[in-house]
Amino acid sequence: MTSFTNLTGAMEIGANCYLIQDGTTSVVLDAGVHPKKIGEESKPRFELLEDVDLQAIIVSHAHLDHIGALPVLQEKFPQAEVVMTRATAEIGRVMLHNSVNVMTAKRLYDGVVEYPFFSHGELDHAANKWVTRPYEESFRVGRSGDMLATLYDAGHILGSCGVMLETRAGMRIFYTGDVQFEDQSLIPGAAFPEDGVDVLIMECTHGNTERSVNYTREREMNRFARAIRETLSGGGAVLIPVFALGKTQELLYEIGKMRDSGRIPDAPIYSGGLGAKVTGVYDRTTYDTPRLHPGLLVRAAVETVPLPRETDGPLRVSPGNIYLVSSGMMSPHTLSNKLAAQILPHPNDAILFVGYSDPDSPAARIKTATPGGNVRLGEDPTAGQAYRVNCRIESFDFSGHAPRTALLNYARALNPREILLVHGDEAAQRQMHQELTRYMSKGVTISRPLPGRRHKLSS
Ligand SMILES: [Zn+2]
Ligand SMILES: [Zn+2]
Repeated sequence: MTSFTNLTGAMEIGANCYLIQDGTTSVVLDAGVHPKKIGEESKPRFELLEDVDLQAIIVSHAHLDHIGALPVLQEKFPQAEVVMTRATAEIGRVMLHNSVNVMTAKRLYDGVVEYPFFSHGELDHAANKWVTRPYEESFRVGRSGDMLATLYDAGHILGSCGVMLETRAGMRIFYTGDVQFEDQSLIPGAAFPEDGVDVLIMECTHGNTERSVNYTREREMNRFARAIRETLSGGGAVLIPVFALGKTQELLYEIGKMRDSGRIPDAPIYSGGLGAKVTGVYDRTTYDTPRLHPGLLVRAAVETVPLPRETDGPLRVSPGNIYLVSSGMMSPHTLSNKLAAQILPHPNDAILFVGYSDPDSPAARIKTATPGGNVRLGEDPTAGQAYRVNCRIESFDFSGHAPRTALLNYARALNPREILLVHGDEAAQRQMHQELTRYMSKGVTISRPLPGRRHKLSS
């Protein structure tokens, strides 16, 4: 029997981790941590692997909701082969070392005693075992090599991949990971298989978001440039909360281009920290990973002002500056959260959102706030200091995730026997399920696999 078990804690974008079993072969896809949960609760349900003889772990990309718990899983299964692309391995080291620092701080300041899950040394030890594979070259996994695996470019962030697994009986299971089919600014859209898939495991982050029929990335970028230009010319500052990995590099490049061509004023761009380290990896791999501008070095092309160190005291917002800083969700204690507290009351300033925000995050609260109303920036939306919302707030779609229609079109073109929906909040998964049921030909099984339940794949 071939089966799929969702090891994620709940039906949401959490600690991504999926177990595929075929006879005696067991493979795990991704080992992430939940972006909002703390401590033990943030891990996937590894306890369900107790009796499993795990032989391989394949990681789709280096966002922490996919790789954050990898060293923990490796410690449980030191014999399991760990596979990812080279860029994911390079970025993964950067992200996970940063994660050790964040966890250590949470132990010190918030008393989370189980942190850090691993030390810098343990991480290095784990990472030395990672095996890297190029796109579209099949390799064998499993103790006797009886499963065939192939990685395909997922177009989501540098190094991201979808994973094809082919069982001994010839069943082809394809996991999209996080996918974007359209070109972004630095990396091209996904190059996914177009046929020959029996079971499709598909992300649905944007399963319930609408996109204007007139949308083009170029038009969206023009609207973005106008918002920056108007704010800076009006004597304001611009805050753009971004994820350190992916969005920082894509937008740094675009804002640099806008500044060079005079479409926006010649303003200092504050950016640094983890984002700058990841940009270094983007630059180091510019010749040997899929790129829209091979050879382009973002750090050389776009001059930035480094962020002050924590010990230099808090960063004060000044008019005429652009702050491209993490986190994208504006989580409490992050720089974007601290700067938002300064910017929100100022009518001349602007906060520009450029991607997905979890519905419970401070970023989502600001996005949906009523102008002139109040918003709170802490963990609890009803407690703590309230800030008056006077600044300009706008949202732009530069998502690294495919819009719903693209996911539907891909599923329809692929025409698998079975579709499993993962990586989307409850509403997104439900709407995708409904639309796919309408959209797919009869006889296709569509399901949202419950966490912790072993699901037999239709053969
Ligand atoms: Zn991702
Ligand atoms: Zn993800």
